[in-house]
Amino acid sequence: MPVELLGKSAEELRAFVASLGEPTYRGGQIYHALYAERRLDLAAMTNLPAALRARLAEEARVTLPRIVRRFTSVDGSVRYLFSIGGEDAKPAQIEAVFMPKEGRQTICISTQAGCAVDCHFCLTAQLGLIRNVSAGEIIGQVLVALEENREHLAPQTNVVLMGQGEPLLNYDATMAAVRILLDPKGLALSPRHVSLSTSGIVPGIERMGQEKIRPSLAISLNASSDEQRDALMPINRKYPLDVLLEACRRYPLRPREYFTIEYVLLGGVNDSPEDARRVVRLLAHIRAKVNLIPWNPGNLPYRAPEPERIEEFRTILIEKGVPAFTRYSRGQDVFAACGQLALIESASPLSAASVFLS
Ligand code: SF4
Repeated sequence: MPVELLGKSAEELRAFVASLGEPTYRGGQIYHALYAERRLDLAAMTNLPAALRARLAEEARVTLPRIVRRFTSVDGSVRYLFSIGGEDAKPAQIEAVFMPKEGRQTICISTQAGCAVDCHFCLTAQLGLIRNVSAGEIIGQVLVALEENREHLAPQTNVVLMGQGEPLLNYDATMAAVRILLDPKGLALSPRHVSLSTSGIVPGIERMGQEKIRPSLAISLNASSDEQRDALMPINRKYPLDVLLEACRRYPLRPREYFTIEYVLLGGVNDSPEDARRVVRLLAHIRAKVNLIPWNPGNLPYRAPEPERIEEFRTILIEKGVPAFTRYSRGQDVFAACGQLALIESASPLSAASVFLS
């Protein structure tokens, strides 16, 4: 079976070429071609001698996520439904979104197919956990999205690990991919531009704090009390708010680093002024900014918050010294919630295609 190269570190690629009897620096050349130059086809790695390329064609492979469907939103964002696995890994479908904006693009990627965490406002939860996504499959989503849009790429690329799955429950593969994203000799992204969002897996947060190379951390809070959070995010019963927020307080933030607190505003559920005041108290002594994300009505039994409630919530935070921003999901016309494409695809492959034009 040919060896999969995508997702391998420079060290692993050096060990691989050594096993073929080649000088180890050839591993560094493959690393450069794959990640810095995005030469995703072995034949296109013209920095390697032709004889080695011929050998690699027999002994190795580069497997990218396959695009099953792409949906282009009126706001320019593109949602991808990818198929992964098949030959030696369980087949699965995952999602990624490419969001262009003035001067930059943001790519949202998946770290698991489905998810076991069971947040009640999330469609991915309804899939259950199908399987973990490998480091190569995580990196592959970024590479395919960049290649697909190469004609109009902006200078800055942001990556958010916020698609299907809980990244900290697939820690090793996620961090292997993040190291390549952040490596100046790899994709060379800035740690400020790569963000990992967690539902609050405390052991993972503690482990992340020990990493030399790590992304920015976003905490998906979404509630102002344990009672509320238990109802929305059952993971809160395992890692309740005081445990989660204490882990944040102990986290060794670097100078100018801060947490992003994600707070989905669900109309009539967690969007009252009292909720806002409780959030202020919860975040005491935590260097954080809050992203308020108004809920988009969809297939789940929640409603959008009133515009005045959103503004009042934000004002209370700001007046108490907590930076807060209102963020609206991109690509709402092509299904805003992660998990939606895979759910629809598993129910009826034609229903999605008949609704959207790409
Ligand atoms: Fe999993 Fe994230 Fe959905 Fe929660 S919000 S169920 S962690 S994918």
